[in-house]
Amino acid sequence: MSIIHTFSGNNLDRGDSTRHDEKKLEKLFESRKAKILTFYELNPLIENFEIPQLGWLTKDEFAKLKLSEDFSKILFLGFDRDQSPCFALEVNKNIEYKHLGRDLCYVDSREIATEISENETGILAQAKSNIEWNKKNKYCSSCSNPMEPFRGGIMRKCLGCNLEHFPRTDPVVIMLVYKNDRCVLGQTRLRQKSGFYSCLAGFMDQGESIEEAVRREVKEESGLQIGEIKYHSSQPWPFPSSLMIGCHAEATNEKIIIDKNEMTDVKWFAKEEVILALKNKSKILNVPGPIAIAHHLIKSWAYN
Ligand SMILES: [Zn+2]
Repeated sequence: MSIIHTFSGNNLDRGDSTRHDEKKLEKLFESRKAKILTFYELNPLIENFEIPQLGWLTKDEFAKLKLSEDFSKILFLGFDRDQSPCFALEVNKNIEYKHLGRDLCYVDSREIATEISENETGILAQAKSNIEWNKKNKYCSSCSNPMEPFRGGIMRKCLGCNLEHFPRTDPVVIMLVYKNDRCVLGQTRLRQKSGFYSCLAGFMDQGESIEEAVRREVKEESGLQIGEIKYHSSQPWPFPSSLMIGCHAEATNEKIIIDKNEMTDVKWFAKEEVILALKNKSKILNVPGPIAIAHHLIKSWAYN
């Protein structure tokens, strides 16, 4: 069974062939069918109906707001099911939208992701990561000259040495380590909330396979050795642009040695306790909610 996690499920056609035609992209932005999603401080505009949704602006509404028409700042996301071209733009001030007659405001990306549809969380992830990458890559990392965006924002080219730069995605392995009816959960220095434990995780190194990264990270954080590894699913995590690669990893030993630099605690939990935690009924354990792949890794093991 494949899971559509929060921040995946984007059903836009990213329009690869269209991206190679810069003039066509500009024309699409001028068309009446264009839809624009604005962001402020990397948070999306949301329409506050009873069920919140992304606050796409029509081309007419966008014109009324007199926002920057500098096309180099406009990012192309793709075509929706009606073949409307969809764009994203980060604005540099919190604009007043009331005169558009719609209930619009900016909402924290992570908070709103639990309330909008799967498809929209995917669009949010794509737009947020791409805006952030374009903002942070104004200059060439090879020769330090300015760069300009091309292909709707999925490539930047150096004006000095012509080097083409592409958005990066940082792979992270995240694994539920288990042995028989117990699993290993840890508490990092960053998330020391009482009773909050999650799956072990870490960035992949260069020149490393997923399996090697799982074995290394588990050994570093818990001292445990891993036998069989099974891939479960993956989740884009746009903070700023990670890809969480979820696995189940079977431990071959049980003695935990904690890496105190990174973790405040790592320990074994019985399946019964984990099931209680998934139902929010445990007195000693809190686990991540369904927004995070960790929740689904834990759940699929606990109910297996
Ligand atoms: Zn350069």
